Amino acid sequence: MQTVRTIADLRAQASAWRQGGGRVGLVPTMGGLHEGHLSLVRLAREHADHVIATLFVNPAQFAPNEDFDAYPRDEAADGDAFSNAGAELLFAPDIAEVYPPGHVTQVSVPGLSEVLDGAFRPHFFGGVATIAAKLLIQAMADVAVFGEKDYQQLQVIKRMARDLDIPTEILGAPTIREADGLAMSSRNRYLTEDERAAAPTIFAVLQEITDGVRGGVGANDLCAIGRARLLDVGFRDVDYVSVVDAETLQPATDASRPARALAAAWLGKARLIDNLPV
Ligand code: AMP
Repeated sequence: MQTVRTIADLRAQASAWRQGGGRVGLVPTMGGLHEGHLSLVRLAREHADHVIATLFVNPAQFAPNEDFDAYPRDEAADGDAFSNAGAELLFAPDIAEVYPPGHVTQVSVPGLSEVLDGAFRPHFFGGVATIAAKLLIQAMADVAVFGEKDYQQLQVIKRMARDLDIPTEILGAPTIREADGLAMSSRNRYLTEDERAAAPTIFAVLQEITDGVRGGVGANDLCAIGRARLLDVGFRDVDYVSVVDAETLQPATDASRPARALAAAWLGKARLIDNLPV
């Protein structure tokens, strides 16, 4: 697998592939790779002849008090893992390549970005939408794959790509979990042994909510019970436990439309998020 660090080199390789009649797939990540990331590469391979993986810890999506400095960085190990999963090109730019001096343009997706995670991390989706737009425009891939693990992020990126007429198909990939149900995340490595044992409760709570809603129990009651259970097993703070419309992310009022249960809660140093379809 070849590694490139400039947008010019990324574009040259991607357009050479396209001119040769190949379909190009893109898998953006911040590294700290696990099976969840690699499943995106494999899915991209099913929809494209050549897969570009990207490795960039995007400072614009971290607030000053968040874990930008502590975020796991190991380009050699991540590069090997990407290559074994079938990526042919790694785009690993430095910060100045992505945000040169004078870079001011921001992409914002109002509405979708303001609820759930957006209410607790107001800087976050502006940073995500901007880097995702830049990577999509830089690579001009035929298809880009993002995980349902970050469900709100996936909805924001789909809307952004549609609104900006970016001609890349945005594919969502299923969440990959540990054997006990915990969604894989680069941030799980922040958990102590005891915290790791309590962590799958976030998945268990979401399962109880989706089962309960399907059985006719009120979502608000189920979410309140779920929140209490998380605090009970040692989560120190619960940002939200909610059932929302799966597309608009607004409160689910129309029972005929698909809904999604989502939760975000703090366990020690880690902020865990997860979600399930109702
Ligand atoms: P990140 O490096 O955390 O920004 O994630 C990069 C991509 O991997 C995003 O599209 C995430 O949604 C996706 N991803 C992260 N964790 C998982 C998982 N457990 N299963 C599937 N996709 C995931």
